[in-house]
Amino acid sequence: MTETTTTCPKCAGTGWYHYSHNHSKPCEVCCQHDKGYWQLHEHYGDKNGKWACLAGCGNVRNEQHG
Ligand SMILES: [Zn+2]
Ligand SMILES: [Zn+2]
Repeated sequence: MTETTTTCPKCAGTGWYHYSHNHSKPCEVCCQHDKGYWQLHEHYGDKNGKWACLAGCGNVRNEQHG
């Protein structure tokens, strides 16, 4: 991993992105997604192959094999 030398334009370097007046989530730009992923199924079906970052940053990735 390389450290960024510029301030994140999304969260201003705080690591938290405020998406509404009093709600915030981990910034998906800064998030390392190192807590792992949980499979989305409630709204997408069981076999959708989509995984969301456990940290709750909102990052979603498609299932990768191998
Ligand atoms: Zn950020
Ligand atoms: Zn994440």
